[in-house]
Amino acid sequence: MITDVMKLTGLILIVDDIPTNLDVLSETLSSVGYDVAIATSGDRALKQLARKLPDLILLDIKMPDMDGFELCQKIKENPRTCNVPIIFMTALADIESKVKGFELGAFDYIIKPFQEQEVLARIKTHLQLSRLTQNLEQQVALKVVSLQEAKKAAEEANIAKSQFLANMSHELRTPLNAILGMTEGLQEEVFGSVNAQQLKALQTIERSGSHLLSLINDILDLSKIESGQIELDCAPTAVAPLCQSSLVLIKQQALKKQIQVETKMSRHLPELFVDGRRIYQVLINLLDNAVKFTPEGGSITLEVSLQAHPTTPESIDSSPNYLRFAVKDTGIGIAPDDIKKLFRPFVQVDSALNRQYNGTGLGLALVKRIVELHGGQVGITSEVGVGSCFTIDLPCTLPAQSLASEPEPQPKPIAAPRPLEPESRPLILLAEDNEVNIRTISSYLSAKGYRLLLSNNGQDAIKLAQSEAPDLILMDIQMPHMDGLEAMQRIRHDPNLIDVPIIALTALAMNGDRERCLAAGANDYLSKPVKLKQLANVIQQLLIPQENIE
Ligand code: ADP
Repeated sequence: MITDVMKLTGLILIVDDIPTNLDVLSETLSSVGYDVAIATSGDRALKQLARKLPDLILLDIKMPDMDGFELCQKIKENPRTCNVPIIFMTALADIESKVKGFELGAFDYIIKPFQEQEVLARIKTHLQLSRLTQNLEQQVALKVVSLQEAKKAAEEANIAKSQFLANMSHELRTPLNAILGMTEGLQEEVFGSVNAQQLKALQTIERSGSHLLSLINDILDLSKIESGQIELDCAPTAVAPLCQSSLVLIKQQALKKQIQVETKMSRHLPELFVDGRRIYQVLINLLDNAVKFTPEGGSITLEVSLQAHPTTPESIDSSPNYLRFAVKDTGIGIAPDDIKKLFRPFVQVDSALNRQYNGTGLGLALVKRIVELHGGQVGITSEVGVGSCFTIDLPCTLPAQSLASEPEPQPKPIAAPRPLEPESRPLILLAEDNEVNIRTISSYLSAKGYRLLLSNNGQDAIKLAQSEAPDLILMDIQMPHMDGLEAMQRIRHDPNLIDVPIIALTALAMNGDRERCLAAGANDYLSKPVKLKQLANVIQQLLIPQENIE
């Protein structure tokens, strides 16, 4: 390329209405090796340009009909000709003409009468510059293409990786569920008695298995989202029950650490159009972390409020608004440098403070992706030693009157297991002591629109059944303090609870299980690991008289 540039080659178009000028210039240029084309008016020049593009144009300013400025403007406006360098030739030496020419995109000026050497030097320089520019532009364009290709390949590889992970996780989950199911059965001595040492070993297997299962579930979710395999199952979702069922799940852990859990909800919150199961998963992740990273005696608040769109506060009733869920804790907090790293997969802040806590480092990455899939966003403020506040903003559209009434904070202690607003959805009491089962069953049923109450043993289950009058009870059989069989018998002795449908859940199907459960008062019986669809069908059948779910 450079050698080309050094030679005096190229086609020069000279536009001038005075034939003598044309003759002198074309002779000068031809004599050093340039090809020359001439035009005696603006119109003719445009016609020439339409036929063949020159490498440079020498353009007279003063011409009848179309002057040099007008022609220059036309050349610059046409994408095909705009890059051809133009040198104005003029007898005018006034600054104004020069400035106007440069503004129109001219490269240079030659003042008449010409100095031959000067003309040749200027033409040579501009041809070199223009060719170097073209060359650079070509190289940049090639680079852009190869970068785009590399990006596309990387994205495809990422999707392939995510798909592989999704498939692997799925394959891993099935045998792991069997391991967990069997372990539970062994612990509950359905295969015969186990001694204390074996029981301890089984508990370790279960703990590790559960941890592995939650890790696999998170990887599966994350990789499904990243490979675009997740389809949101969005439906109008009431906020209060969503929060309530999330809080139910962490209540137990919070109680163990004497952590106070509060909710603050604005009045008249609109329904969200979201995938309830996914948002529930988000809330559980944030609340779980809050409990995990808050020392004993601390407090956690789940606050839900309506936020006007930040950019359009004045058009509040018609523009999209956000529902903000804020999970605040008085926990260990996060250092400013670490905050930047959060929300990336597998990031766990490594500090002396939180090294004692278990985790996968996937929860927040999932939270972010799920929220963003819904068109929302996550946020965080935190101070070491003071606490953290994680927020998620989910878009919602309001009926106009919803904002008319001023939102007011409404503190509600979690101790009251009743929903925060009058509800007509069926209330299910889940009596179960296994954390994995609680999570699986309750998240599934919440997503199906049921409200949930939770108890970890038979005694509590009876108390809750009496005080809350659930529409249906799911009763695990093997539980500490009082097992499910005894609890069902007692429930059936209460005249108010005689007709409440009960589904018994047992570890493994054993001969006689069914009969024992039915005799104790169960309406139906399912063996673990429970098939969630089947469970939902049985619930639906037993609830038919009072059914009011879609
Ligand atoms: P995991 O909790 O399983 O480790 P997450 O992605 O949920 O994974 O969280 C990543 C890290 O962010 C945690 O390991 C912890 O260091 C930090 N973190 C999350 N929530 C809180 C919180 N409420 N208070 C303090 N640190 C937190």
